[in-house]
Amino acid sequence: MQTNKNAKCNKCLNKFYQKDIYTIQQFQYKKEPNYQWTLKFFNKLKIGEWDSFCEKCIKQYSEQLDIAWNNQKSQVL
Ligand SMILES: [Zn+2]
Repeated sequence: MQTNKNAKCNKCLNKFYQKDIYTIQQFQYKKEPNYQWTLKFFNKLKIGEWDSFCEKCIKQYSEQLDIAWNNQKSQVL
């Protein structure tokens, strides 16, 4: 049984188990925004595809992403 918490979240700096790592790559399965847009958005926040985050922080980023996407959609209309 693995007991070492050897992964670290890039945002809150909490330690957690390697198997619980999340990255922004999981957003490529979102219906929208498309992944290209998602990468650009996180690039502005200086977040790369390989940065690791805990579940709590990736959820926060997911919400930020949705808000930003909805904002830019309404700007286009
Ligand atoms: Zn975190």
